[in-house]
Amino acid sequence: MDVADIIVPLETERGKILVVDDQPLNIKILHQLFHEDYEMFMATNGQQAIALCQKLQPDLVLLDIEMPIMSGYDVCQQLKADPLTANIGVIFVTAHFDEVQEVKGFQLGAVDFIHKPINPIITTARVKNQFILKRQTDLLHSIALLDSLTGVANRRQFEQRLPEIWKHSCRTQSPLSVVMLDVDFFKHFNDRYGHQEGDRCLRLVAKAISTTLKRAVDFVARYGGEEFICILPDTPLLGAEHMAQNIVDAVQALHIKHIDSSFNEVTISAGVACVQPRSDLTWQTLIETADQQLYVAKQNGRNVVCGLAL
Ligand SMILES: [Mg+2]
Repeated sequence: MDVADIIVPLETERGKILVVDDQPLNIKILHQLFHEDYEMFMATNGQQAIALCQKLQPDLVLLDIEMPIMSGYDVCQQLKADPLTANIGVIFVTAHFDEVQEVKGFQLGAVDFIHKPINPIITTARVKNQFILKRQTDLLHSIALLDSLTGVANRRQFEQRLPEIWKHSCRTQSPLSVVMLDVDFFKHFNDRYGHQEGDRCLRLVAKAISTTLKRAVDFVARYGGEEFICILPDTPLLGAEHMAQNIVDAVQALHIKHIDSSFNEVTISAGVACVQPRSDLTWQTLIETADQQLYVAKQNGRNVVCGLAL
C-alpha cells in the first residue's frame, strides 16, 4: 500500500451534492440538473441538512437562504463551526441578487452564490468549478496527513486526532487506549538487509497493523522511524491489550526473515496505556505511559505486550 493507492479513489469516486430547500420544486430543478454527474441527496430544512452533512460528508451543499425556523445562514454557520463538516463547500442559492446578503454569505464561509431562477449553464459551471477545487483541496489535505512511505496517517494527523478523540471521550465518559509499537532490532535489520528492504518491511508492518484494526474508529499512525501508534477509542485496557497482542501476532505471521533478531524474523513490541479521560489529566500522559510500557516490553524480551491503566 502506498499513497497512490489511497488517493486514486478520491479522483474516480462520484461527487456528492446535498440540495437544501424548503420548496420541493426547487430541489427537483437542481436534482434534474446534476443527478447524472453527482450522487444527490436532499433536505427540506436546516436540522435535516446538518444531520445529513455529518453522516454523508457531501462535497458540496446547495443551500437555500430563505427557509423557515433555521435559515441557510444558520446552517452554514453551524457547518463551519464543526470540524467534521467545516470542509464541506457551501454554495448559497438565493431568490434575488442582494449585495448585503452575498457579503454576509461569504463572511460565513460560503464558496459561491447561485441565483434563482436557476440558469442551467451558469449553475452547472459554478458547481463544477467548486467541485474541482474541493477535490484538489481534499487531495492536498490527505497527502499532508499521510505518511508517504507506508500510506498510514502521519504524526501530524495523529497529533490532530488524539486531542479531538480525548475531548470526545471526556464528554462520553468512555475509556480511551493507545498502543505504542516499535519494530524489534530494526537498526540491525537495516544494517543487514539495506534501507530498501527496511522500507519494504515498514510497509508490510503498517499494513499488518491497519488490517488488524477492525473498527472504523480505530486509528493508526506512523509515529517515528520504526514506531507506530494506535488510538483505540471506547476501549478498556483488556480490550486494548488483546488488540495489541493481535498486532504482535500479525507482524510475526508475516515471517520476514531477520537473522540478527533473537526470533529469527521481524517482530514488534507493544506498550499499551488506557485511561478514563478527565480534566486533571492530559492526553500527553497517555502517550508517556504507553511509551513507558513499550520500554518495559523491550526489557521483557521484546515481541510482547505490556500495558497499564491510569
Ligand atoms: Mg426557501
